[in-house]
Amino acid sequence: MSQLRVHELTKHFPTPGEPLVILRGVELELDSGQSAAVLGPSGSGKSTLLHILGTLDAPSSGTVELDGQDPFQLPEPQLAQFRYRHIGFVFQDHYLLPQLTVLENVLVPVLSQGPAAPEHADRARMLLERVGLGHRLEHRPAEISGGERQRAAIARALIAQPALLLADEPTGNLDRTTARSVARLLLELQEQEGYMLLVVTHSLELAQLLQRRYQLDQGRLVPVE
Ligand code: ADP
Ligand code: MG
Repeated sequence: MSQLRVHELTKHFPTPGEPLVILRGVELELDSGQSAAVLGPSGSGKSTLLHILGTLDAPSSGTVELDGQDPFQLPEPQLAQFRYRHIGFVFQDHYLLPQLTVLENVLVPVLSQGPAAPEHADRARMLLERVGLGHRLEHRPAEISGGERQRAAIARALIAQPALLLADEPTGNLDRTTARSVARLLLELQEQEGYMLLVVTHSLELAQLLQRRYQLDQGRLVPVE
């Protein structure tokens, strides 16, 4: 059973004048199998929050606990390993490497940890099958559609069986029909994989599919209906 606990999280960025305060005390609790959307206008701090929860940036104060551990207490090499083991990311851009095949792209996070074992390749194939790309394993990103690239990016995010899947505008670059199918895919895979799902989105349609909705308002997460 996985858990995410966020308490009194703040983030400010230094500037030549007053520091820019972006997050002012975020509270959030998520458990395995739960999903939540984060809405809010551009510049409200959604990506900043996701980066911190993904351990790509540190909070200014407050605590993040994922599976009973505060990752920000870890030294950098262990932090990178913690991120690999516990967290998956899907961004608005797919960030697939153009020179690699779809299958190789899904294995990239594994290769950051050492040589890929046969079970990793098996899982990569299984995930690509599940996202509907079983027939595209050897294609390069340029040879598949935008929706397919985002599906490959989802498979890559799940390769290490993360407890927490973070998605920042995952359907932002897709047409409405494709966006809908990618959103459904995130939820279908959640049923099978059991991850906690946190999605930043401008799409009310996508937000409505998730169990809970929050808005970042003046640096705090407030529930919205
Ligand atoms: P959103 O994703 O909701 O559009 P962001 O989290 O990207 O918003 O940004 C929130 C605010 O924080 C913006 O005003 C942005 O300019 C500022 N910001 C983000 N990252 C940095 C940084 N590294 N240094 C200074 N300001 C930043
Ligand atoms: Mg953003």
